[in-house]
Order: sequence, then C-alpha cells, then structure tokens
Amino acid sequence: MGMKDLLRSILIEPGAKCRLSEYDPEDISLCSSKEAAQEDIAKDITRLAKLQEMLYAEDRRSVLIILQAMDAGGKDGTIKHVMSGLNPQGCEVTSFKVPSAEEADHDFLWRIHKAVPRRGNIGIFNRSHYEDVLVVRVHNLVPREVWKERYDQINRFEKLLSEMSVVILKFFLHISKEEQRKRFQERLKDPSKNWKFSELDLKERELWEDYQAAYEDALSKCSTEWAPWYVIPANHKWYRNWSVARTIVDTLESLKLSFPVARTDLSKIQIK
Ligand code: ADP
Repeated sequence: MGMKDLLRSILIEPGAKCRLSEYDPEDISLCSSKEAAQEDIAKDITRLAKLQEMLYAEDRRSVLIILQAMDAGGKDGTIKHVMSGLNPQGCEVTSFKVPSAEEADHDFLWRIHKAVPRRGNIGIFNRSHYEDVLVVRVHNLVPREVWKERYDQINRFEKLLSEMSVVILKFFLHISKEEQRKRFQERLKDPSKNWKFSELDLKERELWEDYQAAYEDALSKCSTEWAPWYVIPANHKWYRNWSVARTIVDTLESLKLSFPVARTDLSKIQIK
C-alpha cells in the first residue's frame, strides 16, 4: 500500500467537516499484517534517526508533533515506540497538564509558544493547546464566547509558527469507547499498570460524547495546509505506530533535508 492511500484515509482535508463515526478505530486495512507493519516500523525508526540528524545539522527548520487522544488512547505508547530511535539531544517532549497559576494568568498560547522546538529540533507535545478547546469546552472552564474564538487563534498561531519554519503534524489517536473500557480494565488488573488508573478518568469517560463532539470541531476547524490533522485508527497499537511513523517519515522526507556543504575547501586543511 502506498503513502497516498494512507494519507487519503487519515488526513482531514482543510475545510472539510470531520465526522469521527466515519473513521473506524479498528481499521487495519492498509497494512497486510502485524509482522509487515513491524518490519516497516523498524525501517522507519532507522530512517527517522537519519532524518533527525540532517534536520539538526541543517539547523534551519524544526518539527512539531502534536499528540491528542482520549484517556488510554496511546499517546505515551506512541512516543515510546515511534520516537525510540531519536537522539535525545535533538528532541524534546512536553506534556501539558492543568495550567499552573502562572500559566493561567497568561493567554492560553503562552506556555505552548515557550515549548515550541528550537531550530534543528523535533518537539513532541503530549497534549497541547487543543486542550483549551477540548477539556476546557467540555467542562465550561471558560465561557463559550472565549473558547469559540480559539479555533481561529490557534490557526493563526500555527500559521505564524509555520512561517517561522516550524513543520507541524497533528495526530488524533482514535480509539473506540469499548477499547477504552478494555484498557482501563487492564490497568485495574495488571499491577504494573495500576499506577495509570485514575478514578477521574472514569468521570471523563461519562462525557465521551461531549469529547467526541469537541474533537470533531477541533479537527474540522483546525486542519490546515500548514498544520494538518491526521485521525489515526488506534485500537490496534501496531497499526497506530505504523501509521504515525509512516506519516512522520514521509513528511520529513518531503522536506528534502540534506547535510550542509562546507563553505571552504576542506581538502586543503591539514590537521597537524
Ligand atoms: P496524561 O493523561 O496526559 O497522561 P495527566 O493524567 O496528568 O496526564 O492529565 C493531564 C490533565 O491535564 C488532563 O486531564 C488534561 O485534560 C488536563 N489539562 C491539560 N491542559 C489543560 C488545560 N489547558 N486546561 C485544563 N486542563 C488541562
């Protein structure tokens, strides 16, 4: 299966209305088997390491990868697997939690802007400014008039970043409500996963439909040419990792990265 088929199945076309019911979280249709996926992933992890090195050496652009999902959607697992080949020196992961008092005293993009990867680096956001139109909207943490404006504000902010050579990719890891139930159940059963269980997550689960609606709006209003949203079928972890890795590698390859050429004639230099 080619990259075009994958993109067609996961990309939200800018301006298109996203209906999550049209995206099957169980989908595994573009990869022949789990084994084939694992082979591809291994290759992509190696490629990603090479591409990161060139991005770092070039020192002109940066890459921002945004991960959003319902609880137990697999953000942590995606970071752990897909980014496993990256050089920590050129890579930063930022997890966004409930805003601190200082963060809450600023505009909602303040803490986000500070975490944008520097030139040459890859930045990964585990949650992001999208929380400000998701949890904030679902729980009415600010009035409707305030969050309603944020879609446009986000688009303009991301446009500014892209004009400053930040390449942005946004992934929504799409799981079904039943899959979330299974994963929560697993957290209860497996002692090594107990720490991940939180009763608060069960409260959020009751708001599943509200969250899906909020996600649909965010994905519809904020998928742009300069910062596209991808809906990743995420019930199967191997397919999720495969799709995310394929998309990141394909995007980085399209940047036509290369190692900078020496400005002077190195052949004349002698090291004594
Ligand atoms: P995670 O679930 O990402 O592993 P946590 O369990 O610490 O990490 O959850 C972080 C919490 O912070 C989530 O409940 C999320 O909704 C919340 N959060 C993140 N950003 C905001 C925000 N801007 N406003 C309110 N809550 C937020």
